[in-house]
Amino acid sequence: MTTPKPERDAAWHAKLAALWLQTEPQLPASQIGKLMGITKNAVVGCVARSNLPRRPSPIVRKNKPHAPELSIRKATLRAIVEPVAAAKPAVVFRRQVEPCAWPERMGPPARYCSADSAPGKPYCAHHCSIAYLKRTG
Ligand SMILES: [Zn+2]
Repeated sequence: MTTPKPERDAAWHAKLAALWLQTEPQLPASQIGKLMGITKNAVVGCVARSNLPRRPSPIVRKNKPHAPELSIRKATLRAIVEPVAAAKPAVVFRRQVEPCAWPERMGPPARYCSADSAPGKPYCAHHCSIAYLKRTG
């Protein structure tokens, strides 16, 4: 169920503009909306479409206290930077499953078997059976 819209003739718009431009006291858009029978957002929309001047934001911003200045002594900075500089280079992770490295054609261009290699081996299961001899006895 919607509330019936108030009649918005020239007088209604003039009243809205007067309330918007009133400075003492300057009514918030929500208060103007209550007086005019519309929502705050409708007030703002009507004001924007009527090209009425904008008003300063009613939100009062308090000045934030400045953050304390950072003063890092050279020795402190060195204690931070040197361990980082001396740290081991990043570990390069290998793919979990490398493609089989069994050469199928000795190039150029060389071609290798592209099946997934067996765990811990450079070749796939099929080429491992060729490359590695099984011990007997
Ligand atoms: Zn293979």
